[in-house]
Amino acid sequence: MSFRDEAIFIKRKTKNNMDQDTLHPSPDKKDVIHHHHHHESCSNKSKRHALVSFWELPDYMKDNEFILNYYRANWPLKEAFFSIFRWHNETLNVWTHLIGFILFLGLAMANLMEIPQISDLISLLTRSFPISGATNVSQNSEDFFAGATNLIDLKQITQPEMDLNPPVMPVTRWPFFVFLGGSMFCLLSSSICHLFSCHSHQLSLSLLRIDYTGITVMIITSFFPPIYYIFQCEPQWHFIYLGGITAMGMFTIVTLLAPALSTSKFRAFRALLFSSMGFFGIVPAVHAVIVNWDNPKRDITLAYESAMALFYLTGTAFYVMRIPERWKPGWFDLAGHSHQIFHVLVVFGALAHYGATLVFLEWRDRVGCLNIV
Ligand SMILES: [Zn+2]
Repeated sequence: MSFRDEAIFIKRKTKNNMDQDTLHPSPDKKDVIHHHHHHESCSNKSKRHALVSFWELPDYMKDNEFILNYYRANWPLKEAFFSIFRWHNETLNVWTHLIGFILFLGLAMANLMEIPQISDLISLLTRSFPISGATNVSQNSEDFFAGATNLIDLKQITQPEMDLNPPVMPVTRWPFFVFLGGSMFCLLSSSICHLFSCHSHQLSLSLLRIDYTGITVMIITSFFPPIYYIFQCEPQWHFIYLGGITAMGMFTIVTLLAPALSTSKFRAFRALLFSSMGFFGIVPAVHAVIVNWDNPKRDITLAYESAMALFYLTGTAFYVMRIPERWKPGWFDLAGHSHQIFHVLVVFGALAHYGATLVFLEWRDRVGCLNIV
């Protein structure tokens, strides 16, 4: 179905559906309905853009039938922009990733300006989060406290060790900033996508492509710090692993350019594409564990990266299964639906990875390319 056909189709559909008349129709856009001015438009003039129900939505917006209300449909860009301060079913989707973006912007600034207090303060926070998350799931609380104590001990051990062996030569930071930049790009494009895709079918298709590109970029750039720093002294692995994940990312982006694959029918397929990129990381991870078996930092970095994997996989499960809204449709329209949980878990996953990256950096700063740890 061509775009014009689709526009006509939507127009025809909306004849039964006068709620979608907009106050500020833009003449250049084909899919905004503004031909049905009649008695109802008088009452429309006095009220702000109203939120509509799932059944009043144009087809392109019918993505999740378990979210029943508080939709914005075909809103002008200005109204969509200011809806960031209004309650609708995307408000928290926008804010969760906007806050994540601001958080990573702060981390990037703190590291660029070399303010260790801030980057360490936040790393201290991230240090306690993922460990508790990882242990809680599989073990009882006794083990959890034992794990927490070990973590504190590890910190105490590393501190004097650092003083005795001052950095040989600080390693280059660019792979670290590539990861921070990629995460920021993903989080910001996701926020923008959720804020503006209610504007029109055409814009929502473009924004979805940017959103999927953002996710792919975040996955690819996440590989840079661990691959670069772990295999710093065997750069041939940089080409193999970073080249491999970049090729997979390109394939993912090109595949998802097809508009049909952006529909709700292909939700699980998209999740599979993204998670297979993540699963590719198992190969260099196993490689790194074998090569660095005697490294005292092995367990702490593995704990961080396992926490990251757990956050991402749990998030993806929520995204695919659409829990909890499928159990109680309409109850989680504004807060608590799967996509918001997914967003929060993505930010936690990225923070856990940030924690691991700090350990890699500190280790490489200390040992350089010498074979001592
Ligand atoms: Zn999202």
